[in-house]
Amino acid sequence: MAQQDDVFKKIISHAKEYGFVFPSSEIYDGLSAVYDYGQNGVELKNNIKRYWWDAMTLLHDNIVGIDSAIFMHPTIWKASGHVDAFNDPLIDNRDSKKRYRADVLIEDQIAKIDDKIEKEVAKARKRFGETFDEAMFRQTNGRVLEYQAKREALHQRFSDAMNAGNLDELRQIIIDEEIVCPISGTKNWTEVRQFNLMFKTEMGSTADGAMTVYLRPETAQGIFVNYLNVQKTGRMRIPFGIAQIGKAFRNEIVARQFIFRMREFEQMEMQFFVRPGQEMEWFKYWKEWRLSWHKALGLGDEKYRYHDHEKLAHYANAATDIEFQMPFGFKEVEGIHSRTNFDLSQHEKFSGKKIQYFDPELNESYTPYVIETSIGVDRMFLSVLCSSYEEQQLENGETRVVLHLPAALAPVKCAVLPLVRKDGLPEKAREIVDDLKFDFTTHYEEKDAIGRRYRRQDAIGTPFCITVDHQTLEDNTVTLRHRDSMQQERVAIADLHRLIHDQVSLPSLLRKINK
Ligand code: ATP
Repeated sequence: MAQQDDVFKKIISHAKEYGFVFPSSEIYDGLSAVYDYGQNGVELKNNIKRYWWDAMTLLHDNIVGIDSAIFMHPTIWKASGHVDAFNDPLIDNRDSKKRYRADVLIEDQIAKIDDKIEKEVAKARKRFGETFDEAMFRQTNGRVLEYQAKREALHQRFSDAMNAGNLDELRQIIIDEEIVCPISGTKNWTEVRQFNLMFKTEMGSTADGAMTVYLRPETAQGIFVNYLNVQKTGRMRIPFGIAQIGKAFRNEIVARQFIFRMREFEQMEMQFFVRPGQEMEWFKYWKEWRLSWHKALGLGDEKYRYHDHEKLAHYANAATDIEFQMPFGFKEVEGIHSRTNFDLSQHEKFSGKKIQYFDPELNESYTPYVIETSIGVDRMFLSVLCSSYEEQQLENGETRVVLHLPAALAPVKCAVLPLVRKDGLPEKAREIVDDLKFDFTTHYEEKDAIGRRYRRQDAIGTPFCITVDHQTLEDNTVTLRHRDSMQQERVAIADLHRLIHDQVSLPSLLRKINK
């Protein structure tokens, strides 16, 4: 684990050093859990968004996009349940003055018991060697069974308290389990309070009677309230979907793990409207389709897993997360939810407008059911960055840091490098840039030895380096260097466009989905 922590720290500093992610307001000592994307980060982020957008809107002729405003009528958040129930239970330690999520403290305690079980299993595996029967050991070993029973009892007590919204009981669990504050080491806890995660602000001047509005905590509601507009003006027939990418804001209590949990972040959400009764079929479709979108990137199939929810939100009848193996464990990157007709019905009730669909095949009207796919851009960015980062030992004893980014997502597609800064090589290199720049993000670099320039491009994940040398002036050929293999080949300038395009184009990535 300590080693993984080290890797994660290195990735964070690499992200800063190479212009991917900077802490927000850094010259003023930063703003907690808010980050800025730098010159390379914004390109990578835009490419991730484009990959998602095109996968949704180009590959499905029944999905269209919108871009709704961040400010919305405050009653929307009443209807959606966010004003009353978008809460985290928080608790303070009186000695350290640190604030924690009560549910996270208890979840960590459960994870500690899990760790103890795994340690017993690991010890036994070492002791028994090849003859070790793990399943049998788990079922019969006294100490493991004791831990299991303790874990189950705690888990049950915790979920009962969460389901009932019983804050006193959450506190009591923390006391009974003797959970201490990691900073002060004491058990001097306050009461547990509910804390709403929405940011509030005021619209209009106070003289006019200002209205309290919220920064949206999710983009989905902008889709629901535009359902009728899009369905009517786009003449959409069920099943159909509406996609949106945009900022969301949550006043997260415990913000940590870099861009994994931020207070301002971006979501890519798609609401798919279906006939009631057909939602499970579509839930299955989207669950599989979304995973294949992830896998097409080639980050490693073993890095993904589904986590089906046992405890469902009151409006959902099925939900699963797609988790990705981050340096700090498997974590949610995307949620796929079957939300029934909850949201549209609520907006019908609160707005007093009829929100229904007339199904010409059934000759009847109904409130559509909804399958939602919801993914965080920043978490996706983090999963791509973490799985691409490698410190490689080279045969000549040197090391290089390389980002094996999927070529279609790389911020820079190719760098054109004159071998020396004289003899007409820079001019020739510029000519190549001027031709390629219309199709690919292209860098020109002439400073430093060629090896150092290659390293800089490796560090930002540029798939191709094109080197212009004296032979280029004679026969119009260049060396094309491949990032991952570091292999170089001599190719004609006239072939560059085709060779690069084959590897870096977004359509070539889109074609891999479901293959
Ligand atoms: P978590 O349990 O981690 O708080 P969530 O279940 O509340 O996440 P959803 O409300 O389902 O998340 O939001 C959908 C997606 O939005 C998540 O899968 C995640 O990728 C992203 N997301 C949610 N909260 C944040 C955040 N604070 N920072 C960055 N991304 C976020």
